[in-house]
Amino acid sequence: MSLTPKAGSLRATSCERGPAATPRVRRYACIVLDADSTLAGIEGIDWLAARRGPAVQRAVEGLTAQAMDGALALEAVYAERLRLIAPDATDLAALAEAYFASVAPGAHDAIAALRAAGVTVHVISGGLRPALLPMTRSFGLTDDCVHAVEPVADAEGRYTSVAPSPLTTQAGKEAVLRELALPRPLLAVGDGATDLAMARAADVFAAYIGFVRRDAVVAGAALVLDSFAALVAHALSA
Ligand SMILES: [Mg+2]
Repeated sequence: MSLTPKAGSLRATSCERGPAATPRVRRYACIVLDADSTLAGIEGIDWLAARRGPAVQRAVEGLTAQAMDGALALEAVYAERLRLIAPDATDLAALAEAYFASVAPGAHDAIAALRAAGVTVHVISGGLRPALLPMTRSFGLTDDCVHAVEPVADAEGRYTSVAPSPLTTQAGKEAVLRELALPRPLLAVGDGATDLAMARAADVFAAYIGFVRRDAVVAGAALVLDSFAALVAHALSA
């Protein structure tokens, strides 16, 4: 559990640094990555909705798209999406496999190179944390580097609500980033409007367009990255 309202609970611990440094020089001490449509080419909630049939899929995708474009606040749609889908443990396990199968090209190599150069890597996501952890562990990240939403099961084992978290709100990623007090300078990378909120707390915000290009996010970004190779080229010297 990485997100609780208690002060200090969000601070980085064992993931402060990657493995032994190499001669490559880092531009940033820390890089924070979004998950859905950045580290992996799916939107987890939409993927779960598709398992419920076309009517639920259309309803949930419409809500997600409006939140990522900034037309609707995330807090207005988060609970409604989960209520519509009501995923169980089997659904979350299947979603974990889907994340794994859709990892962005070059992401594993990029994160390994960044960590080898001494860059601290964290993931800040509005997705469901249990479904993200198998993927983030495959990047070599410890679980305390992964900040996402914890689903809560009802009496029937359906995850229809979540633990209170800033990450279910439109500007929550900014709050989490400030609370973590990660090493500086810090680059934040993501594709959505909720990621753009991190620009206020990061030294540099990059729009990741490898899967989806959102004009409002690109317009607010200091940098645009179309691949993880481009991220490494920007973040590390040759
Ligand atoms: Mg995203």
